[in-house]
Amino acid sequence: MAVAKDRIVIVGAGHVGATAAYALMLRGLFTEIVLIDADEGRATAEATDIADANALARPGQIRSGSYADAADARIVVLTAGAATHGDETRLSVAGRSAVIVRECVANIMQAGFTGILVVAANPVDAMTQIAQEAAGLAPDRVIGTGTLLDSARFRQRLASQLKVAPAAVEALILGEHGDSEVAAFSTVRIGGVALDSFLGSRQIPRATIAEDVMRAAYTIVHGKGYTSFGIATAIVRICEAIRRDERVVLPVSTRADGAFGIEGVCLSLPCLIGSEGILRVLAPDLSEVEIEGLRRSADILKRVVASLSGASD
Ligand code: NAD
Repeated sequence: MAVAKDRIVIVGAGHVGATAAYALMLRGLFTEIVLIDADEGRATAEATDIADANALARPGQIRSGSYADAADARIVVLTAGAATHGDETRLSVAGRSAVIVRECVANIMQAGFTGILVVAANPVDAMTQIAQEAAGLAPDRVIGTGTLLDSARFRQRLASQLKVAPAAVEALILGEHGDSEVAAFSTVRIGGVALDSFLGSRQIPRATIAEDVMRAAYTIVHGKGYTSFGIATAIVRICEAIRRDERVVLPVSTRADGAFGIEGVCLSLPCLIGSEGILRVLAPDLSEVEIEGLRRSADILKRVVASLSGASD
């Protein structure tokens, strides 16, 4: 079936899915946004609420729908998954999320979907891998939101320390979107200048910054029960890169193909993204410690995915 360029389907109309739909509507990237949820009433209510706002924003149609709408969608965003509460780690909800992700992916593929699948459900690296394997789509057509959000947090905190705009800071968090993520200070550039050179004799609290970034979601969940705006904006950024064939480089979760000796597991590396999905996975210059951290992240994620191989209900 032909791909309708302007339809995006969001599966999961909870905090993340509904906020992503709202942010996508404001951005005006797609003429049709369709929300699907096991709770049909919730999907309809969220779609109606967003549609009310739509009359004051960009032209577009926002509605609830069914998996049949995935058939000719350019992108399906998968946000249905188990949410974490309190100090629960993302990995601790892997079993529950895997059941949901497998069910949703089976429905999406049964509808005849041939577009790009963007996965946000946590633990996002493991769910990206499960979705890719369950969908049978090529790895470059399944993109996990990964550490795009963490990298944005990293840039924001570095910018505040360095007294520059976040947009002026290039910086990557790599590996797992979670407790083993790697704050790659080696990748930090401000106007092409590496962090050490930019700082001169000054020091910044690197370990505290990395810890703060890693713990950011826990802090937000403690305060409001969930996170939504940051992840929704990361989803929009990835969808925009696909929709506009931007060929921008973003740190997202993808199936590693041998970079740093890591393969057969999904985790975040900088990826070139365009209309066909991930066009190339890049291996940045990292320190030995950072490479070790990345391999540790890969080992943890491999064990999680292996433990989920039998989780079918
Ligand atoms: P939520 O509980 O508000 O929403 C989840 C929605 O999924 C609910 O509306 C539920 O009815 C729906 N759902 C559950 N099972 C379903 C199924 N089988 N088919 C269709 N719909 C189903 O949760 P949330 O806060 O929106 O979070 C959603 C997911 O996103 C969680 O896994 C959460 O951990 C994850 N998340 C990821 C990031 C990230 O950076 N990747 C950030 C925040 C949240």
